[in-house]
Amino acid sequence: MSDGVETVDTVVIGAGVVGLAVARALALAGREVMVLERAEAFGTATSARNSEVIHAGIYYPQGSLKARLCVQGKDMLYAYCAERGVAHQRCGKLIVATSAAQVDELRAIQGRAAANGVHDLRLLSAAEAQALEPALACHAALLSPSTGIVDSHGLMLSLLGDLENAGGMLAVNSEVFSLAALQPSAQAAIEIEAVGGVRLHARTVVNAAGLGAVALAERTRGLAAHHVPRAHFAKGNYFTLSGRAPFGRLIYPVPEPGGLGVHLTLDLGGQAKFGPDVQWVDGPDDYLVDPARGDAFYAEVRRYWPGLPPGALQAGYSGIRPKISGPGESAADFAVQGPREHGVRGLVNLFGIESPGLTSCLALGQAVVAALAGS
Ligand SMILES: Cc1cc2nc3c(=O)[nH]c(=O)nc-3n(C[C@H](O)[C@H](O)[C@H](O)COP(=O)(O)OP(=O)(O)OC[C@H]3O[C@@H](n4cnc5c(N)ncnc54)[C@H](O)[C@@H]3O)c2cc1C
Repeated sequence: MSDGVETVDTVVIGAGVVGLAVARALALAGREVMVLERAEAFGTATSARNSEVIHAGIYYPQGSLKARLCVQGKDMLYAYCAERGVAHQRCGKLIVATSAAQVDELRAIQGRAAANGVHDLRLLSAAEAQALEPALACHAALLSPSTGIVDSHGLMLSLLGDLENAGGMLAVNSEVFSLAALQPSAQAAIEIEAVGGVRLHARTVVNAAGLGAVALAERTRGLAAHHVPRAHFAKGNYFTLSGRAPFGRLIYPVPEPGGLGVHLTLDLGGQAKFGPDVQWVDGPDDYLVDPARGDAFYAEVRRYWPGLPPGALQAGYSGIRPKISGPGESAADFAVQGPREHGVRGLVNLFGIESPGLTSCLALGQAVVAALAGS
């Protein structure tokens, strides 16, 4: 206790898949960790509203955190899921060229993947791709054998179990309103103001608040404004397929600005969904899917699956990408900002943790442990 305020060692704000993976990594590194989550349960925001794909690490610029942490995180995640019995499947994916002009783009994607250390992509002719997936229409395709799917809720449950076994805890209904850097002479580094007038002091704090991370950083006294990016929100809508999908692999068009194009993903039960599209929105709260957007989905999907029956798509769910670059700007990298970047003792801010955040969660955990080394 100092000044009548309870002092805790480490606080992680946000119990999504990244917050939980970070909390687990810090607890396994010997810290006493408390996770504060504003919702009434863990993993109800973006971590429950995504494609559940284990990405191979194909698209991201060489040397970026997205490239590095995705490739590293994929291997860590497959190993973790196998060890802990978290449901997953290495089903593979096809990226398809739907015009002759796009075949060159596939070659460029293959080159970018190799630069990221992903060497297992294979360029297939239309006939080879159709031998794997007879319902597919394409000029050529890239096969990514290391892409897969994972039960994200099961993963989060397992991460939480590890955290608790290592002595950590999760407090739900615990919104954090603001943070303040304490004087260098104080033993703790950060003061936390949370719901119900609760004040805590912590030696280290990780802001893993996802869609709320930038807003919380704006309410962090002592953090210079130029270290806080501008938040942008890009909604991704999904449409589900009624009936069985005629595909055993994930099917992706070549990427579009802001997202990966309207692709087909499968869940572990074999149910197919299409999406997410890209719809820039003003805030992080509106998850309603406008059924009218379905028309554009039919056109997009029929470019690679002409047999999509009329009336087969139903408005599904949506997720919102916590972006730090806006429409028309080049995609920003993950931002993992620790004391070395912003100068605030004991604080790590995680900004822009959009896709491939699920795939990268275990690697992000390690990155945060490294960012806090010495704090
Ligand atoms: C449409 C879509 C599809 C995607 N598909 C994939 C994919 O296939 N593969 C992949 O690897 N990645 C994918 N992603 C990315 C992935 O889902 C995210 O990177 C990941 O879920 C982010 O986890 P998180 O813990 O950072 O955030 P979240 O899951 O959003 O968790 C943040 C938590 O912080 C809490 N919070 C916010 N503010 C406060 C506060 N002030 N106090 C306390 N708690 C607070 C929230 O309630 C929330 O529970 C996708 C994302 C989207 C949007």
